[in-house]
Amino acid sequence: MRHSLSPLIHNAAFAAVGLDWVYVAFEVADGDAPAALDAARALGLAGLSVTMPHKAAVAAAVDELTPTAARLGAVNCVIAAGDGRLVGDNTDGGGFVDALVAETGRTPEGARCVVVGAGGAARAIVLALADAGAARVGVLNRTPEGAARAAALADDVGAVVTEDAIGDADIVVNATPVGMSGRADQHLVAFDPARIKEDQLVVDIVYEPLETELMRRAAARGARVVGGVPMLVHQAARAFTSWTGQPAPLQVMTDQVLNFSRGPADGVRERARYMV
Ligand code: NAD
Repeated sequence: MRHSLSPLIHNAAFAAVGLDWVYVAFEVADGDAPAALDAARALGLAGLSVTMPHKAAVAAAVDELTPTAARLGAVNCVIAAGDGRLVGDNTDGGGFVDALVAETGRTPEGARCVVVGAGGAARAIVLALADAGAARVGVLNRTPEGAARAAALADDVGAVVTEDAIGDADIVVNATPVGMSGRADQHLVAFDPARIKEDQLVVDIVYEPLETELMRRAAARGARVVGGVPMLVHQAARAFTSWTGQPAPLQVMTDQVLNFSRGPADGVRERARYMV
């Protein structure tokens, strides 16, 4: 939570629409998610975001789950529904599809997709692509068991695939952390980029750095490329609207992320991260 950009994004959004609300990050110890939800009820909070390692524990502890959160078994957004009842949702997959539509004007309907990775974000994206009418959602992962569990979320359009499937895909998504700032594999790509073709759409959900090695390599091969910032903003926008009932100020939210990522010296950035 200390490294979350959510306070920056949401506080700017509240201010932009004239709401006297505040978004604050709290460290919650592993195992304390139910107590944190009780505190939210007692304090009358409008909602919460949930980060790892609490997403499954919160799914088990809320009063109600949206169908998406129930299928994923993971909650990243809690909404106070009145009478102290808390509803758990998962906005990652919907945010991914919203971002795709906003950035490219195309929906996943009828698309052959490959999602690389089988963790929390990958699972949400697999489910959302299938729900949005993708023709095929292949999951490529280091361990086939994880790939099979993720692919099952897409029912009959889901499949465990090898790297060969990348060449046949319309949309290729990196949902692994490979390429993220500060990792040993920051300058690597989770699969062989020589497989990328110019008629493909390549989405890297990693949002820091703004341009990953995959994005550079995919662009060099002529593919259309979308980075992780639009998904980050759109998943937050869904939460914002659920909490406030208002449309989210997308540009304000995007500017927060871009200003932070392009921001000044590292020392200032570190302070900004801990100011939550
Ligand atoms: P996770 O730990 O739940 O899952 C990571 C997945 O990547 C696993 O399947 C793992 O096997 C795979 N993986 C890890 N290292 C790998 C490697 N070296 N080679 C191949 N596969 C590897 O993580 P997550 O929560 O799903 O997040 C994944 C990434 O997506 C992170 O970088 C996170 O910041 C980013 N993310 C972005 C957004 C957004 O809104 N843009 C939202 C959620 C997550």
